[in-house]
Amino acid sequence: MNYLAIDIGGTAVKIAILNKDGEILSFDKYSVCFDKYETPILETVLKSIDIFIEENNIKNFDGICVSATGQIDVNKGAVIGTGGNIKNYDGSEIKNKLENKYKVKTTVINDANAAVLGELFLGRAKGLKNVVMITIGTGVGGGIVVNGNILHGNLGIGGELGHFSINNRGIECTCGNRGCYERYASMTALIKRVEDKLGIQDINGKDIFDRISSDNMVKDIVDEWIDDISDGLVSLAHIFNPEIILIGGAVSNQEDLFINKLREKVKIKVMPNFASNLKIEAAKLGNDAGLVGALYYYLKDGE
Ligand SMILES: [Zn+2]
Repeated sequence: MNYLAIDIGGTAVKIAILNKDGEILSFDKYSVCFDKYETPILETVLKSIDIFIEENNIKNFDGICVSATGQIDVNKGAVIGTGGNIKNYDGSEIKNKLENKYKVKTTVINDANAAVLGELFLGRAKGLKNVVMITIGTGVGGGIVVNGNILHGNLGIGGELGHFSINNRGIECTCGNRGCYERYASMTALIKRVEDKLGIQDINGKDIFDRISSDNMVKDIVDEWIDDISDGLVSLAHIFNPEIILIGGAVSNQEDLFINKLREKVKIKVMPNFASNLKIEAAKLGNDAGLVGALYYYLKDGE
């Protein structure tokens, strides 16, 4: 059995053929933002699938599994909110369109939830039952696994870990509230703090970490940022009592300067019973997590 796996992000769509073990047999990637979303993402995705099938000479597949950015109603397989940033995407009926066109079962899940399921299937959380994952990037994405099942909530949009407040008098958020976690814990938040304090522009995450050893001010800003991230994780540990908290996003490659420091801070603040056996690790799958997690959801929950 082979499956067409699709990972729809804000800049690109990844398309692959996976076997039931999650091995990637063919893969390609196409831009979805080439005209600033004037062409709706779903239209680009449908065209890209045709190109992918043609170029890779795909004869057939047994199902379609999709991981997609934004708020996804898992029952309808549709986008019901985008966080406000992507034009012509809200309302996209992904499942309907794909099932009508290809006549095979299709499941759709949010990309952050797919990432944690990917880790459960083939990554760092293999065999574990209670897992919290945050992905640190432009925003903060999240996924929560309770007793081996992804926490969907009512519509499938649960686990929105970028938007719980860690400071009710804090920074205003695009969602309308104040002090949301991603205003403090995202890479965007770190970059803004460094740029504001140092009066510079156009620095990126890697530059910041490269500067830590030679610039004490940068070191302090990063330390404060990790402290903020740890505050959120402490609350999540107390709520969900996970065996492991996984950190995704490019910054999780910084073992010494980031993951180890974060682990230390969380362990100090969390109540002792919650700290015992709690692991805090970098996620393992990186770019493939969405594709692999979408398949896991299709095979397990989506039946
Ligand atoms: Zn918010």
